[in-house]
Amino acid sequence: MSESAEQLAVNVLVLGAGPGGYVAAIRAAQLGQTVAIVEREYWGGVCLNVGCIPTKVLLRHAEVAALVSRHAKAFGLPDGVTADFRAAHERSRSVAEGRIKGVHYLMKKNGIRQFAGTGTFTSDTSLTVTTADGPIADITFDHAIIATGSEIRNLPGVDLGARVTGYIEVVLSETMPDSLVVIGAGPIGIEFACVAASFGSNVTVLEYQDRILPAEDVDVSAELAKALKKLGVTVVTGARVVSASDTESGAHVTYDTAAGETTEIDTDHVLVAVGFSPRLEGYGLDATGVAVTDSGAIDVDAQLRTSVPHIFAIGDVTGKLALAHVAEAQGIVAAEVIGAASTRVMGDYRDMPRAVYSSPQVASFGLTEAQAREELGDVLVASFPFVANGKAHAVGETAGFVKLIANPTTRTLVGGHLVGPDVSELLPELTLAAGTGTTIDDLIHNVHAHPTLSESLQEAFHGLAGHVINF
Ligand code: NAD
Repeated sequence: MSESAEQLAVNVLVLGAGPGGYVAAIRAAQLGQTVAIVEREYWGGVCLNVGCIPTKVLLRHAEVAALVSRHAKAFGLPDGVTADFRAAHERSRSVAEGRIKGVHYLMKKNGIRQFAGTGTFTSDTSLTVTTADGPIADITFDHAIIATGSEIRNLPGVDLGARVTGYIEVVLSETMPDSLVVIGAGPIGIEFACVAASFGSNVTVLEYQDRILPAEDVDVSAELAKALKKLGVTVVTGARVVSASDTESGAHVTYDTAAGETTEIDTDHVLVAVGFSPRLEGYGLDATGVAVTDSGAIDVDAQLRTSVPHIFAIGDVTGKLALAHVAEAQGIVAAEVIGAASTRVMGDYRDMPRAVYSSPQVASFGLTEAQAREELGDVLVASFPFVANGKAHAVGETAGFVKLIANPTTRTLVGGHLVGPDVSELLPELTLAAGTGTTIDDLIHNVHAHPTLSESLQEAFHGLAGHVINF
C-alpha cells in the first residue's frame, strides 16, 4: 500500500479498457455494481486507437482511391485524379480520437471510476495503479475482469525496426511506402495489402500456408486471390520467411519457397502480420493465482470464470477468438454472471461472425465446407454469385458470392462464406438463423427488399432447398 495513493474499494475491477473491458464495465455498472476501470494506454483498446476503426477509415479511403483511379472511366470521373494518403491518415486519426472520447463519455455517464495508468495485481483481491509519477491508487475488489488483450507475435529471424514493423506503425504512418512486403496472409496482412495497393504501393504478400486466409473456406481464399491479383498485389504462398531486417534505405527479406529455393526481396517497408498472443505479462497475474492454459492463454470456463472463482477474463487474453465483438459478448456474459448471478454461457466460438475488410470484403461464420463434410458427412451446399445480383451491378462491384452450408437432417445452417461488397453487413441474418435453428424451408419465405445485396442470401436459401430462382 502506498501512502499518497487513493484507497478505493469496488465491487468490480476491470483491467483493460478495450472493447471487452469497457463494455463489461458498463454492463456491470448498469447492474448496480460499483466499478473501476484501469487502462495504461488505449482507451477503447487497440480496436478504437490503432486497429479496427482507424483501419476501416483507411480502407474506405482505399475504396474511394480505387474508384477515382482504376474505375474513373466507368463512373464518368475525370482521369488522372489521385487520392492523397495524408488525408486518409488525418481522417483516420480524427475518427479514432472521436471514438476514444466516446469511451470516456460512456464511463462517466455510467458512474465508472477511470484510472489512467498501469494496473498491477498485488493479490487476488487488490491491484495498484501506477503512472510515471508513482502509484496513484490502491484498489480492492470483490470481482475482477481481466481484459488485457494480446500482443503481436514475431518470427525467428525477423528483426523489428523502423522499417520492419507490426501493424501499429503502419496505421500511424503519415505516408504509404512505395513498396511493401506483408508477412502473413491472415486478416491483418490482407487488409493492409488492399489499402496499400489501392494507394499505388507495390505490394508482395508472403504466406506460409498454401493459400491466403487459410482459416477460411477454400472458395473464399481462391476468390480473394483473384481480387488481389486484379489489385496488382503479388501473392506468394508456401513462403517460409527466414529473415527480415532494416537496411540503410529500406528493408530486406529472405524467404524459402515451397520448392526449397531461397529468394530475397528489397522493399521500403515490411509489415509482420503473423498473429497475436494473449498478454500474460506485465500486470502481476502471478499474484492472483489465476491458471493459464498450455497454449499460453488465461484458462476460462463458458461463463469466463478463471480458476480463481471471483476473477473473470475476457477478450484476446482468453485465446478463444481474437475479435472485438467476441470480447464484447464475453464482457457482457461476465458482467451479468457477476452482477445478476446469470446462468448465461458463451455459445460455440465457431459460430461467431468473422469479417475481413478487404476489397472485396470477406464475411463468414460456422463451419467451412471441408469442416462440415468432416463433421457431418453429407451436407447441403449452395452458392450464388454477385454477378447475378442487380444491386451489385448498380454499385459496380460484382465479384464474389454467397456460399451457404446446411445440415441435411435438421435443414439448418451450419456455415456461411461470403465474398463481395459490404458482405459483413449480411452476416446477422445468417447467425440469427443458425442460432435459432430456423430451417431453410422457413428462410426461403423471408422476403428480402429489391434491389439489395441481401437478395443473394435469399437465392442461396432457395439453392439449399434445391431451386435457385435468378441464376
Ligand atoms: P492470423 O493468425 O490470423 O494470420 C497470420 C498468417 O500468417 C497466417 O495465415 C499464417 O499462416 C501466416 N504465417 C505464419 N507464419 C508465417 C511465416 N513464417 N511466413 C509467412 N506467413 C506466416 O494473424 P493476423 O492477421 O496477424 O491477425 C491477428 C489476430 O487479429 C487474429 O486473431 C485475427 O483474427 C484478428 N484480426 C481480425 C481482423 C478482422 O477480423 N477483420 C482484423 C485484424 C485482426
